[in-house]
Amino acid sequence: IKASKSFKSSGPDAITMEFYKKFWPLIALRLEGKVAFITGGASGIGECTAKLFARHHARVVVADIQDDKGRALCVALGPAVASYVHCDVTSKSDMERAVDAAVARYGKLDIMFSNAGIMGTTGKGVVDSEKPEIERVMAANVTGAFLAIKHAARVMAPARHGSIVITASNASVIAPTMAGITAHAYLCSKNAVVGLMRSTAAELGRYGIRVNCVSPHGVATPLGMGATGMNEEEMEALLERSANLKGVRLKAEDVAAAVAYLGGDEARYVSGVNLLVDGGFSITKSVV
Ligand code: NAD
Repeated sequence: IKASKSFKSSGPDAITMEFYKKFWPLIALRLEGKVAFITGGASGIGECTAKLFARHHARVVVADIQDDKGRALCVALGPAVASYVHCDVTSKSDMERAVDAAVARYGKLDIMFSNAGIMGTTGKGVVDSEKPEIERVMAANVTGAFLAIKHAARVMAPARHGSIVITASNASVIAPTMAGITAHAYLCSKNAVVGLMRSTAAELGRYGIRVNCVSPHGVATPLGMGATGMNEEEMEALLERSANLKGVRLKAEDVAAAVAYLGGDEARYVSGVNLLVDGGFSITKSVV
């Protein structure tokens, strides 16, 4: 307020514009000094979160198996801000090595965003679902989250602080209505990570570590579009028709904003929460 008085403006809008032009860079630096590790950071929600984190002045480690995409993203963000590491989240050694490399490079780890995930084959009934497919999805979505939490906690606990955010899905609270398009393995995995989040939040609180989930509704990312066979416009239009909240289309940026909140200090007393980013869709459906 004191600073805004120094503006020479011709009206309230001008004051606001001038104020934001001058102070937005400071207001926006919500993750200044933080070091974040993002699994599945090369695409979709993870990529968007890496960009948002960088804008908030965090340093970001992008971990993925899409090496070219991940590297290109880090080059675009700048070497002082972002670095890429190949990390298959289902691999114990990959995860261990990648987290150690992040700490060696930046000296600490403040935020682990365990976001890598796959949909698996959709539209199959339980009789036609095969064991290898269930195991593949559970490995990426659940074992991957477990390893991310384990290795983040390993380096965060001695520092007595840290924030872990896991991407679940609103499929974690609306099983029956999702069953038609979503594979059983996916639903199972997203319920499992919410349970894992709760149990680890309960264990790790004593070390000052918070653990939360972010649970989006459908977003037109390669994962979502791949599962539906639709392009971005078609998928968003479909979701808009069934949405509870009208006039807004859910974007990866909206999920990234929720992750920035949970990851940063504004949520410093928030732990054990499954934050739904679904415009109230789940409360209009069967909630489990
Ligand atoms: P996406 O396909 O754009 O991104 C997922 C990323 O994870 C990709 O870069 C992929 O290479 C990476 N990945 C997959 N398996 C991996 C592995 N074993 N090791 C390392 N990286 C791996 O999809 P997205 O929509 O951004 O998905 C991100 C998360 O959001 C997933 O966990 C997904 O289940 C969840 N989610 C997505 C939606 C949606 O509609 N898009 C809705 C709810 C939840």
